[in-house]
Amino acid sequence: MTYFSTRNASPPASLKTALLDGLAPDGGLYLPETAMPLPEGWEDASSLADLGARVLAPFVADTVPDAEALVRDALAFETPLVRLRDGLFVLELFHGPTLSFKDVGARTLARFAHALLEDGERLTILVATSGDTGSAVADGFAALPGVRVVLLFPEGRVSEVQERQLAIERPGVTPVRVRGTFDDCQRLVKTAFEDDRFRAAGRLSSANSINIGRLLPQSLYYLDAVRQLGGAAPTFVVPSGNLGNLTAGVMAHLAGMPAAGFVAAHNANRAFSDFLAGDDLRPADTKQTLSNAMDVGRPSNAERLTALLPPERLRALVRGTVTNDAATRTSIRETYERYGYLACPHTAVGLDAARRLQDEGATGPLVVLSTAHPAKFPDVVEDATGVAPPEPEALARLRGLPDVAATVEPTLGALYDAAFA
Ligand SMILES: *Cc1c(COP(=O)(O)O)cnc(C)c1O
Repeated sequence: MTYFSTRNASPPASLKTALLDGLAPDGGLYLPETAMPLPEGWEDASSLADLGARVLAPFVADTVPDAEALVRDALAFETPLVRLRDGLFVLELFHGPTLSFKDVGARTLARFAHALLEDGERLTILVATSGDTGSAVADGFAALPGVRVVLLFPEGRVSEVQERQLAIERPGVTPVRVRGTFDDCQRLVKTAFEDDRFRAAGRLSSANSINIGRLLPQSLYYLDAVRQLGGAAPTFVVPSGNLGNLTAGVMAHLAGMPAAGFVAAHNANRAFSDFLAGDDLRPADTKQTLSNAMDVGRPSNAERLTALLPPERLRALVRGTVTNDAATRTSIRETYERYGYLACPHTAVGLDAARRLQDEGATGPLVVLSTAHPAKFPDVVEDATGVAPPEPEALARLRGLPDVAATVEPTLGALYDAAFA
């Protein structure tokens, strides 16, 4: 299988190049030449891992040795479909080790990237994070021989829970706290890629959310939802930021998965929702909201969606909604009052979109993707409901562990001394 760039100005690439480079040389994003085929009987799979073995492993088997074992190991957690009431379901994607859906893509990408390294080849993953991506990538790549992760996060700008997940000691992972903003962290990563000193450390890769290696496994949990529904074609409601999650669902649908449609559920960062309503796609400055993992003003994967489908077909398949912070709080509270269910602020944006669809008389099952565990955002959830989400074992275990992150000024020299010298 070869991978092509959405801008069509780069030569077709191998899976190894697409996974390790992330971005195509023309600045576009990689897509597979043909959709990942759904083999006969995929609905009979027993779990997410089993779907991975039946659908994803054969798709990469010509390149990735032992693909089936790697996929089964990466996806060894459940993605249960929870019924809130007739016709309304939540697909819980937060049962992986770092409690967000980012574990699905990061764990799979890590195993594939490692399997594709030549003997003795070393890989350094340099990643800037403002939240869930960093811990999922660090956890996914930790302890793989030949792979190092350098994790940059902004001092004082991640939540207490997220900081606990980022700054702990993991084999092969160097966390770096940057005295600056998330944009400073991203700038450092970008400039390090162009710097000879950093390149001398071995192959550099970024594992960021535009990597096709993260999207392919994300298609699997959509299949898992349809399997658990017994084959009915649901409308998927996807809390969206950079649109990787939505793109993975649209790719599964184009491969033959039944779906009545999709909803791109946004917070105040509404550029893509406005595009779906008929506007041009206009990038905007990022607005800070309660659902901070969705605070994206220029969603990169819009480029993939428009490469997969012409605008009129995309607009027929995907509808956009916008939910502000006040409505997000209301959604968390009402979901708790009506169903006794605690939702994180991102999931609550999706639940608000689902409520509006049902008020408009939507028929057929609605599946809201739940992207993070409520305990990752305990303050917002407790403010809205009066109830503190119980802390899962995966977070409780991190309490009291030493913080090993080096703290650096936002300069390339300081980053080099702290993590590469
Ligand atoms: C990353 C993230 C999102 C947004 O997903 P995209 O694929 O960027 O659209 C939503 N919710 C949570 C909790 C996330 O971590």
